[in-house]
Amino acid sequence: MQTIKAAVCRAFGDPLVIEDILIAPPGMGEVEVTLEAVAICHSDISFASGAWGGHLPAVYGHEAAGVISAVGEGAGGFKTGDCVVVTLIRACGSCPTCASGKPTICETPYNTVDGPLRTAEGEALDQAMACGAFAEKVVVSHRQIVKIPETLPKDLASLLSCGVITGVGAAVNAAALRPGQDVVVIGAGGVGLNAIQGARIAGARRIVAVDMTEEKLDIAMEFGATHGVLASQKQPWKAAYKALGGRGADVVLITVGAIPAYDQAPRYLGRGGKAIMIGMPHTGDMSTYEPVVLAALGQGIIGSKMGDVVIQRDIPWMIDLYEQGRLKLDELISGRWALSQINEAIEDTRSGAARRNVILFNKG
Ligand SMILES: [Zn+2]
Ligand SMILES: [Zn+2]
Repeated sequence: MQTIKAAVCRAFGDPLVIEDILIAPPGMGEVEVTLEAVAICHSDISFASGAWGGHLPAVYGHEAAGVISAVGEGAGGFKTGDCVVVTLIRACGSCPTCASGKPTICETPYNTVDGPLRTAEGEALDQAMACGAFAEKVVVSHRQIVKIPETLPKDLASLLSCGVITGVGAAVNAAALRPGQDVVVIGAGGVGLNAIQGARIAGARRIVAVDMTEEKLDIAMEFGATHGVLASQKQPWKAAYKALGGRGADVVLITVGAIPAYDQAPRYLGRGGKAIMIGMPHTGDMSTYEPVVLAALGQGIIGSKMGDVVIQRDIPWMIDLYEQGRLKLDELISGRWALSQINEAIEDTRSGAARRNVILFNKG
């Protein structure tokens, strides 16, 4: 076991505690990655607030990039020195859902409490989301990582682990958008901006961003939205119909966890349209809709985890599109912080103003 620094959650709702923890060497099929960057996602904040339960103490963090520093046996050809992004998608590769091309909903359980992490005292420490990337190193399955060019800055690369693949993947994979379709994106935060650029990349005709402030709608336009609608107005879907020439959307992408967004999403749909649920409400939150409308108009509501991504297939083309100037990454980062500042960075993300805050391990 090696000693590394990590931000540990000791009690839900409390600030994370920077402490020394122990990490095991990589086992069969695993690699150790020394992290250079980890982004803060709303999912980390939901976990740390206790919204989804889970074991404590725990190390969160799941949008990371770094360099492989040790390799276990049978680690898929990865080698020390490879630059990689680290995701939370610990797919087994052989269960029925993995084998049918849906690794984000792998059926094989993985016990994160028995993972590679221990407290300095040797007690159980949860490797939350099979990742535990609010730490200087992670030990993960080789199936969770994708090799990236050495020249791609790690802070930008870290965004590809979750926010970018979730948003772009929802538009391209889950919604299977065709050129010319009309899209409404509810929420213009970290995932929403990526859903917007995913819709743009897929060739959407009109992309209507829906959010609470003019400032966020302006940012949405920079990412490819053609129209903005303030969610704070009464019956905001009517403004969206107007933007779409009097009809509803072919696809509605719900990128926030707020229940009013789920309750209202079907109202934006046109005939035959489908709403994709991407944001993650808290456990126990309920939504209501009017089923007869969906039945009569041939509409659907579909859940999408992590953009239905296949990381080995999708991350490489997203990197190419970035290098060609067709996918924005630089503009997604609103702040860079040291690990010691993680609670401030989380607070900044929680306030809703930030796009993505990134922790840089070599900073301060
Ligand atoms: Zn995330
Ligand atoms: Zn599987």
